[in-house]
Amino acid sequence: MVKLYINNKEVQVEAASTLLDAIVRAGFKVPTLCYLKDMFNEATCRVCIVELSGGRLVPSCSYPASEGLRVLTDSERVLKYRRAIVEMILASHKIKCQSCSMKGGYCQLLKLSKEFGVEGIPVCAECPLYGSECLLNLGIACLGPVTIAGCDAICTKERSPCIGCRGPASPDDVLEEGIKTFIKYKINIDEVVGISELFWGSNPLTQTIRKLFTNLHEGGRV
Ligand code: SF4
Ligand code: SF4
Repeated sequence: MVKLYINNKEVQVEAASTLLDAIVRAGFKVPTLCYLKDMFNEATCRVCIVELSGGRLVPSCSYPASEGLRVLTDSERVLKYRRAIVEMILASHKIKCQSCSMKGGYCQLLKLSKEFGVEGIPVCAECPLYGSECLLNLGIACLGPVTIAGCDAICTKERSPCIGCRGPASPDDVLEEGIKTFIKYKINIDEVVGISELFWGSNPLTQTIRKLFTNLHEGGRV
């Protein structure tokens, strides 16, 4: 057994344990994305970083627990870098929420984004409707793919389309994926823009949507 300290709380774990094992044993939590117990601990996402007493930041899912180590799970530095990591993951994330089975409350990235106030995930990530249930399948112009998440998709839970009251998802790649989704489902872009103007008014993003639609359509990039 080795003895170490998590947030100043003493804990003992078996030799060959990881910091994450010790953190859980001590009753604390750190978020994880890529980690799967006993299956994957390659520390590729780095969301589970923690701070060692010397100031070093390490991924807790793969770093070995050792005698006397002192670990902080949510120091100011940890939170700052964890937020930056979530932002980086989102920047390279292919936003395919509309057809992802991990949505409707199961998306860990959405949960982390909310926790850290990182914006960039559309309402579709929260919507419990997917596959054949998605309103786009019925030809209904739901603005979920281009609207910023955070409302818990309350309208779509009632099978009403999102009309974008929370405002547009601002990152270009999110909008682009959203427009591709509308094109894929043959949703009339004039209708989308018309609905978006209810809450977004003359927001230049409504024009961006139209421009992206034209480019994607004419460029055959869908
Ligand atoms: S119903 Fe709307 S919010 Fe739900 S997945 Fe379909 S497009 Fe997205
Ligand atoms: S209209 Fe507003 S409350 Fe309803 S699903 Fe869209 S963003 Fe959420």
